[in-house]
Amino acid sequence: MQRKMFVGGNWKMNTTLESACELTRGLAGQLRGVTGVEVAVYPPCPFLLSVGAILRERAVGIRLGAQNLWEKPAGAYTGEISAEMILDCGATSVLIGHSERRHIIGESDELINRKVHRALEAGLEVVLCVGETLEQREAGETDAVNERQVQLGLREVSEQSLDQVVIAYEPVWAIGTGRSATAEDAQNAHERIRGVLSGLYNGAASGSMRVIYGGSVKPTNAAELFACPDIDGGLIGGASLDASDFVKIVRACIEKEPAS
Ligand code: PEP
Repeated sequence: MQRKMFVGGNWKMNTTLESACELTRGLAGQLRGVTGVEVAVYPPCPFLLSVGAILRERAVGIRLGAQNLWEKPAGAYTGEISAEMILDCGATSVLIGHSERRHIIGESDELINRKVHRALEAGLEVVLCVGETLEQREAGETDAVNERQVQLGLREVSEQSLDQVVIAYEPVWAIGTGRSATAEDAQNAHERIRGVLSGLYNGAASGSMRVIYGGSVKPTNAAELFACPDIDGGLIGGASLDASDFVKIVRACIEKEPAS
């Protein structure tokens, strides 16, 4: 099953308006002519319009996404952002269930599932993030945690919507720590997640879903991770704040042999 590689840059709560625009211009310049990989950036919400304007003007095909959304379309939800607002800013993708939202903000699997439905209903692509904490890993619970988060996150999501969903496996202990999963461990987790997906949906639908890896991906380890058969790209935090590092990571995807 041939799946197009996907690399997302999660800028988190970093950048200023000026540095976000600078970073966008840098990416657009360095990614011109790069094909065969889908690239998206997830800037802070207040900068979506400005970043989007540069991406449109430079027309290099980098997609725009938001880091979060609220589960309702509109109303008295102070400080929250709706799917419609995200679409209005020209973004087409959204991260849901990032570990920082699960573990710092306290988002539950049930809320994450409602957000997934809201985003899909509105026509946004969803990058659903899952992954175990260090404690869960050490207790041998990695696969069980991933299985639960995938199953609950996708609860009642129809097969027809799956082409709008990407799963990001991000072991929490590897995010922002400089300590990536080994390619072997990541491949094993991805293979198990793919197994969960094929248990939930028919083979063709689940087989064409991308499962990307996140957690301290750098130019130095990207190629090895991306070479694994069940790793379809990456969600990149720290290294996405440096245009040339991020571009090197994107380029590491191009070297991957197409899966047969
Ligand atoms: C992330 O925020 O999704 C992430 C993977 O961060 P980092 O690359 O910095 O570990």
